This record gives sequence, C-alpha cells and structure tokens, in this order.
Amino acid sequence: MPDRLPEALHTKLSKRLSYYQDIGIRLFYRDRLPGPQPQYASDLEVSVEPGAEARFAIPAPQEETLPKTSPKPILPPARTIALPATPKVSVLPVAPKISLFDAVNKVADDSILKIRADLGDCTRCKLHTTRNKIVFGDGNPKAELVFVGEGPGRDEDAQGLPFVGRAGKLLTQMIEAMGLQRKEVYICNVVKCRPPENRLPEPDEIKTCSPYLLRQLDAIDPKVIVCLGACSAQTLLETNRGISHFRGQWLDFRGRKLMATYHPAYLLRNPAAKADVWKDLQKVMAILGLEVKKGKPAGTQKPS
Ligand code: URA
Repeated sequence: MPDRLPEALHTKLSKRLSYYQDIGIRLFYRDRLPGPQPQYASDLEVSVEPGAEARFAIPAPQEETLPKTSPKPILPPARTIALPATPKVSVLPVAPKISLFDAVNKVADDSILKIRADLGDCTRCKLHTTRNKIVFGDGNPKAELVFVGEGPGRDEDAQGLPFVGRAGKLLTQMIEAMGLQRKEVYICNVVKCRPPENRLPEPDEIKTCSPYLLRQLDAIDPKVIVCLGACSAQTLLETNRGISHFRGQWLDFRGRKLMATYHPAYLLRNPAAKADVWKDLQKVMAILGLEVKKGKPAGTQKPS
C-alpha cells in the first residue's frame, strides 16, 4: 500500500470526514465480528423492512462520489440478517442521547431535607435576582403522588409555598376531589424561583434547577408523577411536542408512571378542559387504589 493517498482522494476523504464531524459523528470503529471476517460488502447486507432505511439513514452529503479504488469482486449470494420487528413508534420522540438528567449524580440516602440544604440560598441562575422567596416544594416527603408545576407565581413567591394562588386553590380542589388531602401529596415546580412577570422559565433556568427537581422525585419515590402543564411535562419527558399530543396517556419517567395534564391556570381560562383533567386524574386514582366515583367532582363543574 502506498504511504500517502493520492492528493485528490485525500482531499475528498478529508471533506467527507469534516461532513461527518459536522453531523456529530467523530469516532469510527471497525467491528470485530465473531467468526470469519466478511470479505465482501454484500456479506454485511442486512434485510430491512421497507421504509426503515429512510428513518435511520444519515443524509449523504451533496458532493462528488469518491473514486472507486478497486473493481468489485464477484459477489457470493447476499446473506440476510433478520432484524427484530420494528417496535411501535412512541408518541414522544426518543429522548436525546445526553439527557438533561444524565449528568445528575444520585446522592446516597438522599432526602428532601438534604436537597433543601444543598439548594441553600440559591444564586445559581438569574431568577434569584428578582425572587422574594425560594419555593422549594411542599407536602408529604413520602407521597405516592407528586404534582409538578411550572414555577412560582406572585403569591407563591410571597409565601414561599407552591400553588397557593388562584390556580393553587383549584389544584387543592382537584386533589380533594380525588379523595386526598393536600398534605398527603407532594407539590413542587420545575423552577424554584418566580420568573419575572410570570414569563415561562428559560432553558438555562430549567437546566440549572432541574437537578433539584430530579433529586426530589428520586427521594420521594412516588408511584405517580402528574405534570401540570406543558413546561413540566416537556421538561421531564425531554420533548418539545405540545402537551395535547400526549396528555392523558401513561408515560414513563425513569421507571415511574407519569401523567401529563393541563395546568390549573389553563383551566381557570378554559373551564371546559376540566372534564379532560378529571378523566386524567381518575386514571391516576385507579393506579393509586383510590375510589373512582362516577360523575364530575364539584370543582370541575363550574368555572371558579
Ligand atoms: N403555577 C405553577 O406552575 N406553580 C405554582 O407554584 C403556582 C402556579
């Protein structure tokens, strides 16, 4: 083999490698297959169901094709490898390879008290400059059911407690309609400080704060997590799909059951959606072994 590739081939290979780098492929390995190594390209042929290539294919760069290096040998009949049946496509996109939560180390013997102590008088993101009180979370540290909202509003910021304003009152009614008391569940938010003017939490704020949420969920170890609204659902599920695509369905969050439903503040503006939320909460009640009563609970009948 010559020491150096011909100049033209070298340039083309460099271009192709930069293209792979641009699309995030940096490392190349040669598979060491068990048994005899394949000698022909066709030995590696895999039969795939029609359309599968399109889903998994990396788009080829629009550039000249590489020159053929040698004539193809006469090929033996292609060997096909049966692939397992394609799994059902989930309603949600596959979580990104590096998850928001992968970098969070588990803390041995973690507890709500320890997490609160670690959070301290937090100044990790810009929200600390405008908040009054940190709203860490409230309720039973051993709850079977955790509600996760978006972030504190004005009342919560003033009192340091989650869901104590108008939306909070509706949430309390919803919890009681399920046959529970507020103190039996745990309530927290994606971000623990009020975003100014009640704007949506920004990605850097979510990224900074969510490790504490994750630790809370791990420490409490609930049977069911209910996400209130899109921000909470999209954060935990690491998706940017609209909540209406997956609201009311059982989803998985790191081995736990997750139900996404509408935020109580949305229900204050759209009382007709209360019926959907009640259906979702009835599914949660069934899992928790709570008596599912027929009809609508008082809080869901009329706009508050
Ligand atoms: N909305 C939220 O998302 N969380 C609260 O704590 C209050 C209102």
